[in-house]
Amino acid sequence: MRAETVARRLLSFPRLSVGKVRFEVDDLGSEVLVVEVAVRGRSRCSRCGRKCPGYDRLKPRRWRHLDFGAWEVQLEAGLCRVECRRCGVVVEQVSWAEPESRFTLHFEELVGWLAQRCDKTAISTMLRIAWRSVGTILERVVARLRAPIDWTKVTAIATDELSFRKGQRYLTLVSDLETGRILWSKEGRSAATLEAFFAEIGVEACARIRHAAIDMFEGYAQAIRRCLPNATIVYDRFHVQQLASKAVDEVRRGEWQRLRGTDEARGVKHLRWALLRNPWNVTPAEHERLAELPKQNRLIYRAYLLKESLAGIYRSLYTTPWAKRRLNEWIAWALRSRLAPFRKVARTLRRCFDGVLAYFETGYTTSRAEGLNTKARLATRQAYGFHSADAVRAMIELRCTGIAPRLPHQIVGVAG
Ligand SMILES: [Zn+2]
Repeated sequence: MRAETVARRLLSFPRLSVGKVRFEVDDLGSEVLVVEVAVRGRSRCSRCGRKCPGYDRLKPRRWRHLDFGAWEVQLEAGLCRVECRRCGVVVEQVSWAEPESRFTLHFEELVGWLAQRCDKTAISTMLRIAWRSVGTILERVVARLRAPIDWTKVTAIATDELSFRKGQRYLTLVSDLETGRILWSKEGRSAATLEAFFAEIGVEACARIRHAAIDMFEGYAQAIRRCLPNATIVYDRFHVQQLASKAVDEVRRGEWQRLRGTDEARGVKHLRWALLRNPWNVTPAEHERLAELPKQNRLIYRAYLLKESLAGIYRSLYTTPWAKRRLNEWIAWALRSRLAPFRKVARTLRRCFDGVLAYFETGYTTSRAEGLNTKARLATRQAYGFHSADAVRAMIELRCTGIAPRLPHQIVGVAG
């Protein structure tokens, strides 16, 4: 059997013919098996796929394919540009790669499969490609394999933000509260970021959304009020409780400053975790400290009671009218408390009252999104070193949305 015949069998792409096969050592000392290939049949436009006449011929270019043992395999072809009536003069379509890619489809899918399972070092060592290239490959793999979303079924969404690149930059993630699927993501965390999502899905899809769960961030709320005519905002309970936790800590720090240098100050300093933990997670030593609190420091004690009673309202599974009453009582108490951080929380709750109450009606939280966020955060960590937010998003989708890249032997349709 001739080498060209073997190569043709191994390269299972349609509309591909094989020419000469040769070995080479490239500038970096890598051993490369070069397979000359050509497009079989009439040339087509790489944008729309229509058959169209040739325009001119380009210099040969190469695509990295799956290794053959220790040898890197490169396909080499001189393509032409075609003149498409719709798209103008563009490079012709090839069956083995996307227009802008220098890797074959099979190679890219292998990268996707590995990126779901392996770390950075494993992938770049095994495949001998730069980590940066992995990012752009994943963008293409995800765009090809992502299942289309049926917007007529999306009626409840959660919006959350995620930091990447050590907290300097943010992604806004939108997920479906019913299915838990990530629907959309984009760099940024402003009202405009979320509005870009609403613009993309269109007015009809926006009108179908009945509930939108968000954190306490005002930008998202503004975007929802502007673009979702039928949606109720649901403020996430854990973010509401977080406001109270932060307020307790602020009161404690204030007291610590005030008492600085005294024995009491040390006690106050060590109270931090006892105050912030849920009661069932408090250690025996912390329990003791909390038991001393009413005598030791009344301000912190009051702050602690406020925080816990707010948590209690959420834990009690009240019906909406009861929750409304309890929340109003809590707000009145916090406003009277003479604790500035809690008065601030009370004012926030009063301003966002309907959205806070909507939790009791719907039970929606962003916690499903938060669970997703934990997974997404891990994916983000793995994507560290990628250069664009799009590559980070691709890694998140690859790891969190059930996309299934196939290995070469799982790809059906071996050409003759
Ligand atoms: Zn075209």
